[in-house]
Amino acid sequence: MEQERIKYCPECQVGIPRFGFATYFTWIEDELITVPDFPCWICDVCGRREWDSHSLMQLNLLLSPNAGKISQKRRPITSDRDLPIRKTTRKTLH
Ligand SMILES: [Zn+2]
Repeated sequence: MEQERIKYCPECQVGIPRFGFATYFTWIEDELITVPDFPCWICDVCGRREWDSHSLMQLNLLLSPNAGKISQKRRPITSDRDLPIRKTTRKTLH
């Protein structure tokens, strides 16, 4: 039940987006995330890029748990001492 396959570029109305790969940029908090070789549709006339929605969704799933971690990491350095890191080094004396 699909209609016409040809989808003209919404930007220039004449170009046809072609499937390709480009480096995707996104910001999480104030960190720039770059994803090389990200699937996208590139207009052959104006060069407008439309990122593949399915891949974008997967990327967001990958990045969203990280986004929480990044903000949690930002603490005063002094509180690092309170981190419950235990070194379990056992010294066996012979
Ligand atoms: Zn275009």
